[in-house]
Amino acid sequence: MSDYQQKVAGSFNERMQLIRLRRKKENLRFWQEFRIIPNGVIWTVVVLFLIAQGIAFSVNRWNAVHYGSFFPYELQDNFPLASVALAGIITAISLVFATIILWIAYVNRDAKRRGMNSALWTLLVIILLPASTFIGFLIYFLMREPLPYPCPQCGKTVGARFNFCPNCKCNLHPSCPNCKQEVVETDKFCPYCATDLKSVAQETEALTAPK
Ligand SMILES: [Zn+2]
Ligand SMILES: [Zn+2]
Repeated sequence: MSDYQQKVAGSFNERMQLIRLRRKKENLRFWQEFRIIPNGVIWTVVVLFLIAQGIAFSVNRWNAVHYGSFFPYELQDNFPLASVALAGIITAISLVFATIILWIAYVNRDAKRRGMNSALWTLLVIILLPASTFIGFLIYFLMREPLPYPCPQCGKTVGARFNFCPNCKCNLHPSCPNCKQEVVETDKFCPYCATDLKSVAQETEALTAPK
């Protein structure tokens, strides 16, 4: 394997390891996640929606009074019904726009709390919007870094790329002493080779414990 190939394979493995860590540690709930979107953005979307409805209704009413014709043209004899139809169409369009705006706001906040470049990621999803509405979001959700999580031993928040806790030196990526595969702190037995991890841990503790 060439140097370059090795580097690519190495960064690919690291990426896969981060994705696995994310799946293991993150248990995100949709509505809880929704809360990281700033209230200001949500209210702006609501106000814009109401303004759009107001403008559409006024323009339609103005046309009805001055020209005697209004949108939609199939409902010429019934202005109230036409108004309801117009409001429905605007609501449908607004829902699509609101969804996109809220997703962008979410990416912006989420990237920040994961220690990623939030301005760059926000720009990327916006730039990719015309290409295919959700491709930018898809790339973001595949690429995003795992969230910092509490150290299993001392509870201090540790970064996803840390190997040891900077506060208590806890091994954040323990591996099986027999097969060297990565295991989770709570595993009693190695999921790959069934080595009893509890007794091994107690033995090493007993060996290293001060007498
Ligand atoms: Zn710790
Ligand atoms: Zn093992």
